[in-house]
Amino acid sequence: MDTLVEKVRAGKRLSGEEALVLLEEADLLLLGQLADEVRRQRHPEPVVTYVIDRNINYTNVCVSGCRFCAYFRPPGHPEAYVLSREELGRKVEETLKLGGTQVLLQGGLNPDLPLEFYEEMLDYINGWFGVHCHAFSPPEIVYFADRSGLTVEEVLRRLVAAGLKSIPGGGAEILVDRVRREISPRKATADQWLAVMETAHGLGLRTTATMMFGHVETPAERIEHLLRLRDLQDRTGGFTAFICWPFQPGNTALKDLPPATGHDYLRTLAVSRLVLDNFANIQASWVTQGPKVAQIALFFGANDFGSTMIEENVVAAAGVSHRLAEDEIRRLIREAGFTPRQRTMDYRPVGR
Ligand code: SF4
Repeated sequence: MDTLVEKVRAGKRLSGEEALVLLEEADLLLLGQLADEVRRQRHPEPVVTYVIDRNINYTNVCVSGCRFCAYFRPPGHPEAYVLSREELGRKVEETLKLGGTQVLLQGGLNPDLPLEFYEEMLDYINGWFGVHCHAFSPPEIVYFADRSGLTVEEVLRRLVAAGLKSIPGGGAEILVDRVRREISPRKATADQWLAVMETAHGLGLRTTATMMFGHVETPAERIEHLLRLRDLQDRTGGFTAFICWPFQPGNTALKDLPPATGHDYLRTLAVSRLVLDNFANIQASWVTQGPKVAQIALFFGANDFGSTMIEENVVAAAGVSHRLAEDEIRRLIREAGFTPRQRTMDYRPVGR
């Protein structure tokens, strides 16, 4: 352990084996201290950033049926919906009134929507409101490509032409196909997820990366996930941030699994900061962890409080519902000893 601590403090890159030893064996507070040291080297200013945005789930219809998802409804279900243009417009207007700079658009894999639907949605939001569209996780892009008979690159070029500005890192879960076959067998594979991101980065789009852990994966598979992200970031530099959160089992087909603890969250977050040495920004997840653990996360490697999430539906469907307004986020950041700063998707400060 002493050798590993020295290696981290010397700024040397961790191997997968070393990261696994840290994840499984290191003392919690030692991990926090190391992650905090690395975070303060990268971000010497005592600033914690956040973004004002809203998650707009344009449809809950999905044919993927992921076992960890409480949000989707199959086609024809009485609760199935696709948002109308009026509903979309009202949500974007509300976001702008609250100082929002972007909307995050994500939906299920809906077999009834052609590629033109997504182009028109982007064109409408971008054209009428001029707001940054952070939209469509890699599994959605892969599905659009499959349905339209186009390549991923062709789909991305069309969406960019319609107003797509960046891509959220959703749908990564754990980027190991053994895990994906167990929890989401009909969704994009690990290679497909990474290929969408690599193609997007090649087209000049910035994206985020995520990890949802604490379900059927092993600790070694969590580390493999981080290494695959680090490899791609070495090649492209296109990821702006990494966000991880524990699986929320409520109302899902995996509801009998015990929920991950705050302890496990903080360990995984700290190890992520140590492994992802080429990621500038690591976000805390107050949406799943609540405000107190999110404040502690700022001392376990996180330098960003994520989004105000004016609207969030997916985690809420699993029975977890933390709500924070912008002034509460600013107060929590200040109380933790940092200066809050609003930012854009690509971490430019927003002056208001
Ligand atoms: S996680 Fe996404 S792809 Fe999977 S069932 Fe839910 S909405 Fe569909």
